[in-house]
Amino acid sequence: MSSPDRRYSFEFFPTKTEAGHEKLLATAKRLAGCNPDFFSCTYGAGGSTRDRTLNTVLQLDGEVKVPTAPHLSCVGDSKAELLELLNLYRDNGIRRIVALRGDLPSGMGMASGELRHANELVEFIRTETGDHFHIEIAAYPEMHPQARNFEDDIANFVRKARAGADSAITQYFFNADSYFYFVERVRKLGADLPIVPGIMPITNYSKLARFSDACGSELPRWIRKQLEAYGDDIESIQAFGEQVISEMCEKLLAGGAPGLHFYTLNQAGPSLAIWNNLKLSN
Ligand code: FAD
Repeated sequence: MSSPDRRYSFEFFPTKTEAGHEKLLATAKRLAGCNPDFFSCTYGAGGSTRDRTLNTVLQLDGEVKVPTAPHLSCVGDSKAELLELLNLYRDNGIRRIVALRGDLPSGMGMASGELRHANELVEFIRTETGDHFHIEIAAYPEMHPQARNFEDDIANFVRKARAGADSAITQYFFNADSYFYFVERVRKLGADLPIVPGIMPITNYSKLARFSDACGSELPRWIRKQLEAYGDDIESIQAFGEQVISEMCEKLLAGGAPGLHFYTLNQAGPSLAIWNNLKLSN
């Protein structure tokens, strides 16, 4: 099921400890074997992971030799801080960036910073760095949790795309139809950028349920009930999760999705299992 037109990518988060970082590098080296189009590395809004994101990106890009895209969020960072990072990435040969608004951790107060929404960050990157970066933006097939309604959220997404984005990566979801419906609505508004599904492997029930609630991704009842029934039986949870997600990815690709972006949570096994089930090669 490979296609030269599709793109595949794996996302990591920067770690706090040396041991975590070593594990991340080992994971990245295994996933590099899939010959992905790129890796990406998250950024703590407000700059909490500024140096760790920068170092991880440069190491994955330079040593693991997979082009790596830093995530960059604008809440809590000044324009001068954002520009300094952009210049550092540009000077180090980084060509892709994931531009986000970000969510400040609770306790860091109200959103500060000079740019309030991701469309403003996209505009800022284009103004300051021209066409140097391929800009990715975030998309929410099941609606961003703070959006007033779906209509507004889609209009905001299209404005962000028009500000100069090249492509988008979605929040994860477990219902392929929500993705197809979102893409159709975006196309009707005239935006034609590639929208790549973000894929979350299922490896653990309680964490997934908590996280899905917070980010506005719906964990369908039939999946929730089945995972609950497995209790502490991690092996069954993972086998079921692998099957459900592989089938959803097959449906997405067959329906025209332009690739897949895996939220690895710094683990190679779950994403590789799906990759192998799909017989993907790149
Ligand atoms: P926006 O596009 O600005 O949208 C946020 C909300 O504001 C939406 O409800 C939207 O409808 C509304 N809105 C947008 N533009 C306007 C406007 N001009 N006027 C009024 N309302 C508007 N978070 C991190 O902190 N670090 C990361 O590394 C990170 N990586 C991510 C990667 C992906 C692929 C995804 C999908 C999300 C990621 N996030 C990350 C989470 C993201 O930062 C949050 O979901 C955040 O709440 C919204 O970011 P955004 O870029 O989508 O914001």
